[in-house]
Amino acid sequence: MGWGGYFGGPQAQSAARDAGLPHAGVPGNLRIQVEEVLRKEPQYPPVDVDFSHRQPADPPLTLRTLLWPFRRQLAMALLLVVIESAMMQSGPLLAQIGIDHGVSSGNVQVLLVVAAVFLSTVVAHAFSSFLRIRYTGKLGERLMYTLRMRVFSHYQRLSLDFFTREKAGVLMTRMTSDIEALTVLFQEGLVNFAVQSLVLLVITGVLFYLNPLLAVLTLVIVVPGTFLLSIWFRRVSNLYYGLVRDRIADVLADLQESLAGIRVITAHNRRRHNVVHHNNVVGRHKDANLAGVRAASIYAPTTEAIVIIGQALLVVIGGTMVINGSLTPGELTAFVLYLTFFFAPIQQLVQLYNGYQQGQASAKKLREVLMNEPSVMEASDAVELPPIEGEITLDQVSFGYEDHIPVLHDVSLRLAPGESMAVVGPTGAGKSTVAKLIARFYDPQQGRVCIDGHDLRTVTLASLRRQLGVVPQEPFLFYGSIRDNVAFARPEASMAEVLEACHAVGLTELLERLPDDVNSQVHERGASLSAGERQLLALARAFLARPRVLVLDEATSNLDLRSESKIEAALDVVLEGRTAIIIAHRLATAMRADRIAVVEDGRITEIGTHDELVAQGGHYAEMYATWMAHAN
Ligand code: ADP
Repeated sequence: MGWGGYFGGPQAQSAARDAGLPHAGVPGNLRIQVEEVLRKEPQYPPVDVDFSHRQPADPPLTLRTLLWPFRRQLAMALLLVVIESAMMQSGPLLAQIGIDHGVSSGNVQVLLVVAAVFLSTVVAHAFSSFLRIRYTGKLGERLMYTLRMRVFSHYQRLSLDFFTREKAGVLMTRMTSDIEALTVLFQEGLVNFAVQSLVLLVITGVLFYLNPLLAVLTLVIVVPGTFLLSIWFRRVSNLYYGLVRDRIADVLADLQESLAGIRVITAHNRRRHNVVHHNNVVGRHKDANLAGVRAASIYAPTTEAIVIIGQALLVVIGGTMVINGSLTPGELTAFVLYLTFFFAPIQQLVQLYNGYQQGQASAKKLREVLMNEPSVMEASDAVELPPIEGEITLDQVSFGYEDHIPVLHDVSLRLAPGESMAVVGPTGAGKSTVAKLIARFYDPQQGRVCIDGHDLRTVTLASLRRQLGVVPQEPFLFYGSIRDNVAFARPEASMAEVLEACHAVGLTELLERLPDDVNSQVHERGASLSAGERQLLALARAFLARPRVLVLDEATSNLDLRSESKIEAALDVVLEGRTAIIIAHRLATAMRADRIAVVEDGRITEIGTHDELVAQGGHYAEMYATWMAHAN
C-alpha cells in the first residue's frame, strides 16, 4: 500500500484503521505539509531475504574470509589512501625547496610556484580524504550489515538445545560489542593502518634522501623511546580494556535484572538495597576506567616530550651541520617539521595493533557461534509435507537431552486423526519431552516420530510447522497489539478472522474493556494482562492458525474458577476436530481428552480412556481418587 492511501476515501480510512492508526484521515489544511514530509521519507523497496533451515556452506569466519568478497573496494580505498598520504607529506619537502631555492637566492618566482603547488596539494589531499572517508565508511557499513544478518539468521536457524545452553546475554554481546569491535577495525583500523605505515615509509625515505646521516640520528633519537613507551601503554591499556569490558557487562547485567525483576524488588522492599548494589557495580567500572586514564596521563605527555627533545637535539646537531655547510637551512626545516609527523604514526600503529587484536578476538567468538550446527537439521532431500490428516505415531522412541542421560525409554504411541490425548504424570517424568519431539524441537536418538506416516526428519521444517500448532505453558506475548499477537502465525489473516478467533476463545469481554479493542497494545510481554487472559490469547493464536495437529502444554498457574472454566470452554473450541496432545496438569483437563496416557520415568505405564483407566485401578485411578476426595 502506498503512502497516498492515508489521505481519504473510505478505503483509506479502513486501511489506516487496519494499520492501527488511531485517527484515520488527515485534515485538509495539513495534507500539503504531510505530503511534503512523506516525499522526503526514504522509500525502501520490499525486502527479499534469503533464509534456509540448512547450514550454509560459507567458509569459517575469519578476517580474511570476511574481507575477501570486498577485495576490490578495499584496493580502491588503498589507492585513495596512497594519494592522500602523498599529498599530506609533501608540505615539509615543499618548504625545503622554498627556503633553499627561493628564500636563499631571493627568487620570488620559485616561492610563488612552491606556494601554488602547496595549495593544490592541500586541495587534492582534502578531496582524496573526502572520497576515502566516504568510501571506507560505506564499505564498513556493508560489511557490518552482512555480518549482522549472517549471525542473526544463524540464531534463527539453531535448535533449541543451543538456546538452553547459551546465556541470552552472551548471545546479545556477540551481536553488539563483538560486531562493533569489528566495525571499528574495518572503518578506521585497516585503512588507517595502511595510511600510517605509508606515512612512516614516505617520511623515512624523504629523510634519507635529504641527509642520510641526520636521518639515522633522528631515527635513533625518536623511534626506540616512542616505540617502547607505546608498547608499555598498549600492555597496560589492554589489561584495563579487558577489565572495563567485564565490568560494563556487570553494570548491564545488574541493570537488566533490576528492570526485569522490578515487581519482585518492589514487593520485597529491595529498592534501596538495589541502589546500594548498583553503586558498587558502577563504582568498580569507574575504578577500572580511572586506571586506564592514569596510564594515558603518563603516556601522552611523555611521548610529546620525546618529540620536543628530539627537535631540540635536531636543532643543535642539524644547526651545527648547517654552519659546517653539510646541510642547507631548508633541509633542517624539513627535518624539524617531519619529526612532528613521524611520531603520530608510531603511536597510531601501536594503537591500531591493539584494535586488530580485539577484532581478531571478536572474529574468533563470532566464528564459534557460526560454527554451531543446528542439532535439528533439515535433510538435504527433505520434501514438503503434504496436507495432513493428523495421525501421529511414536515408534519405539528413546531420547535424552544429553546422550548419557536418557529421558524417554522406548516409547510407542499412536494418535488417530482428530483424537485428543492427555499426558499426565509426575513432574520430570518426560511429558513435555514427548510434546517437544512431536513438534520436532529435538530429534529422537532411537526410533521414529511420524505424522501421517512421514518421518519428521524427512520433511521440511517449514511445511511441518505450518500444519502444527504449539501452545506453550507460558505463552510469550510480543511487543505489539493484541491483533499482532493473535495473528502471529498467520500475519496475513484478515481483521474478521482475528476477531472471530478472539470471540471463539472468549476474549470478547477483555476486548470491550480495552481502550482500542484488538489494536490495544500488549505491554511488556503481557504484564498488563492477567494469567488467564494471556492463556486465552495463546489459544486464540492457535485457533487462528488452524493447525491439523495441536501440541498444548497446559499452564500450571493457579486460576480462579471463572477463568478456569473460560479456558476449558476455549479449549473445547480450539481442540474441535484436531489431533491434539495435551500435557495436562489438572485432572479436569485430562478427563476431557479422548484418551489419557500416564508417563512415569520416561515410560508410558497406562493408556486408555478415563473410564478404562479408573477401572484398571492403577496410578491414574489413584490420582483420580485423591482428586475426588479433595473436591468433596
Ligand atoms: P515433565 O514435562 O514431565 O515435567 P520434562 O519432559 O520437562 O518433564 O523433563 C524430563 C526430564 O528431562 C527431566 O529430568 C528434566 O530435568 C530433563 N530436561 C528437560 N528439559 C531439559 C533440557 N532442555 N536439557 C536437559 N534436560 C532437560
